[in-house]
Amino acid sequence: MSISYYPLSRLVARHQPALGQAVDDVVRSGQYLRGEREAAFEQAWSQAVGVAHTVGCANGLDALTLVLMGWKQREGWADGDEVIVPAMTFAATGLSVLRAGLRPVWCDVGADALIDVADAKRRVTPRTRAAIAVHLYGRVCDIDALRAWQKETGIKLLEDAAQAHLARYQGRPAGGLLDAAAFSFYPGKNLGALGDAGCVCTHDKDLATRVRALANYGATEKYLHTFVGLNSRMDEIQAAVLTARLPYVEDENARRRSLAAQYRAKIHHPGVSLSPVASPDTDEVCHIFPVLVSQPADFQHYMTTCGIETARHYPRALHQQTAFAHIDAPHLPVSERIAREEVSLPIHPLLSDEEVVYIAECINRYEAP
Ligand SMILES: *Cc1c(COP(=O)(O)O)cnc(C)c1O
Repeated sequence: MSISYYPLSRLVARHQPALGQAVDDVVRSGQYLRGEREAAFEQAWSQAVGVAHTVGCANGLDALTLVLMGWKQREGWADGDEVIVPAMTFAATGLSVLRAGLRPVWCDVGADALIDVADAKRRVTPRTRAAIAVHLYGRVCDIDALRAWQKETGIKLLEDAAQAHLARYQGRPAGGLLDAAAFSFYPGKNLGALGDAGCVCTHDKDLATRVRALANYGATEKYLHTFVGLNSRMDEIQAAVLTARLPYVEDENARRRSLAAQYRAKIHHPGVSLSPVASPDTDEVCHIFPVLVSQPADFQHYMTTCGIETARHYPRALHQQTAFAHIDAPHLPVSERIAREEVSLPIHPLLSDEEVVYIAECINRYEAP
């Protein structure tokens, strides 16, 4: 058997010829940026996520950054004001805070790898302005706890939903659960473009207007530059591709959930721990299926000898990264343990039941050193 972690070309190929047609239509249209296809995708995504506004942009890092920039200018936050960020996430979450001229304050995650709200509360200072709830692995953070915290403090709450396309909390999709959300449509996400793309979702009309201006050189009208903005656009080819793939995401997520359930039922090994099961309040979308092992390099090597490719998300927490060395690094035991021990098993809509059985059997035969 040879099982790749994420067979991107096969995953894209099954949407042919629709994707080829979509790209061809754009090539012929003569309209490559800020056209009708971006507007159509924004509308379709707003409807799917249940928000009033979607603003397309170039990638997920920009989407996070644009929201923070928009709040900073509207609310009058100062340079160096603080945003609480869980340390176990992809680097972009922390980088966006720095790019907006703000300061990340790291907090720990729970055993489910999602923001530990009790720990986040302990990190509040007079300069705390916001927190980022990362729906890591396609799970949804504890929205009720976050909302309760927000009521006490009045801080803004941003969802990093880059791994949580159409995940749900009490039936409502991620991306419309807090004050604003950032999505990435990087090719490897549950809804992926054929290049970079991202968007901001919000119910807040004023924020959406600011984000749209900030992503367009800060222009509120053509050649009227009100803000110091960026150039961050979703191009028409990506918008057309995303619109073509959107109708399949729910079914693909359901397939991922079924694969995750099979892994849970079939993996029984004292040295391989599975994450806690998601709360019944949520429908996770299993972007990543993590396991924890004491020696990940040895485990990954063993899996390779079985013909199974694995990955790691993420081998360092953000407070352990050189890029953030100038930010205070508290001891964050759960994030650090996940960074040390996490290995991601293949999970994608084309993985077969037979392959999952084989992967689980290989794991159950693993002899830890
Ligand atoms: C992918 C990802 C991002 C960044 O998205 P890009 O489009 O690659 O910039 C941000 N946060 C998380 C949690 C991600 O997984």
